[in-house]
Amino acid sequence: MPDSSPKYDLIIIGAGAAGLMAATSAASRNLRVLLLEKNKKLGVKILISGGTRCNITHNCSVREIVKRFGNRGNFLHSPLHALPPEAVIQKIEAEGVATKIEHTGKIFPVSDRAIDVRDALVTMARNAGSEIISQCPVQAVAKDNDGFSVVTPYDRFQSKNLLITTGGLSYPGCGTTGDGYAWAKQFGHTITQTVPALVPLLNNCTWANDLKGITIEKAGVGVWQPPAAGKAGTKTKKNRPLAQATGSFLFTHFGFSGPTALDVSREVALHPDRKTLTLNVDFLPDLKPNRLQDMLEEKKRNNGKQIVGNLLNDIFPKRLAESLLTAAGVSLDAKNAELSKSALDNICQQIKNTKFALNGTLGFEKAEVTAGGVSLDEVNSSTMQSKLQDGLYFAGEVLDLDGPIGGFNFQSAFSTGWLAGQSIVENGQGK
Ligand SMILES: Cc1cc2nc3c(=O)[nH]c(=O)nc-3n(C[C@H](O)[C@H](O)[C@H](O)COP(=O)(O)OP(=O)(O)OC[C@H]3O[C@@H](n4cnc5c(N)ncnc54)[C@H](O)[C@@H]3O)c2cc1C
Repeated sequence: MPDSSPKYDLIIIGAGAAGLMAATSAASRNLRVLLLEKNKKLGVKILISGGTRCNITHNCSVREIVKRFGNRGNFLHSPLHALPPEAVIQKIEAEGVATKIEHTGKIFPVSDRAIDVRDALVTMARNAGSEIISQCPVQAVAKDNDGFSVVTPYDRFQSKNLLITTGGLSYPGCGTTGDGYAWAKQFGHTITQTVPALVPLLNNCTWANDLKGITIEKAGVGVWQPPAAGKAGTKTKKNRPLAQATGSFLFTHFGFSGPTALDVSREVALHPDRKTLTLNVDFLPDLKPNRLQDMLEEKKRNNGKQIVGNLLNDIFPKRLAESLLTAAGVSLDAKNAELSKSALDNICQQIKNTKFALNGTLGFEKAEVTAGGVSLDEVNSSTMQSKLQDGLYFAGEVLDLDGPIGGFNFQSAFSTGWLAGQSIVENGQGK
């Protein structure tokens, strides 16, 4: 009798961060692993990540990472304990890629070359014994008594277990076109609303766009909706922003970017009426309003003959300083001594709380991650196995998991991928 049992213990669809880590994890347990990737290059997103430097992970505790993922963070306890940040670094360094911790806590390869990280992950997966086929887009998957069959233009592959690591919808040019969601649905899974996250914001404000190229190293930003909408019962709690972040902030020709703008973008994308939102920016978050007021009064007293246009030049880049003063309604040509109490109040208010009208985001095309995905309620967080279909697993961004800027998204992909690889059992019945 010919042996009709599947050739593979595990087929993984998608050779990104999660798929490559899962391949290493499972193959190092002597499982027969096949990793299929639609692109010619493996790990394309790794190659473009962190401005091609690849922010691999973050120098912080597992607890801190869980916290950064908000109300979905609890799902990550087991994956992060299976593969914490230090274990990721240890594995990558073992392949000869030295890493460094930057002052922000972000961890990068010393070489600043994302390709080194990608190569290390591919080498690990291959050396562990996994078979990898690129330029092999999966078109369909099905389950029968013998296991899973995976259809590609070239071949049909059989496996006892199937791991979907196809990522989300962001940067579709990288191959991430949401293919995994359809297969998850086919097995009865719920896909929560998917929206672009970690994506630049669009605004409706010409004077802000004229400031393109200016970066503020530390600003406090908050996304606000109009009070009426808050009363109508949407997410804003009274006097609280939908999302807030402190850090680097960048003006662009279309709106805003930089870590703070990206970190609050998810709430903008999720909002049903995003054109009603404002981005309120505190350009001096470390200075209390009364201290700022004192400082401005002192400047007025000590430099009464100086023109107002130069009042903020020692605090902000000149173009921003002048724009804030103009927005505060003061004449740039007047003398400091002529500034009234209410004019100083307005300047203070402008610095601490400039409101920019928003106009949505740049969308999936330019989003670093996808918020939403395979519902976490239907996946066992101790194994990454589907609660609905034995032998089916999910890892990485295809899940309803998205974290902030800082290496958290790779860490989530690595940890969930690793845990899936550790949990797969040969008979396809799961742990
Ligand atoms: C510009 C940019 C910069 C980023 N920088 C960082 C950073 O520095 N640090 C960080 O932590 N995160 C960063 N991210 C986010 C990070 O890249 C993702 O969170 C991470 O790649 C998710 O890993 P994944 O393995 O789940 O999915 P992906 O890396 O997206 O991999 C999914 C793979 O599946 C393949 N695939 C999809 N469908 C099929 C199919 N039908 N058949 C075969 N293969 C298929 C895709 O081609 C892709 O290679 C960045 C993202 C972008 C877009």
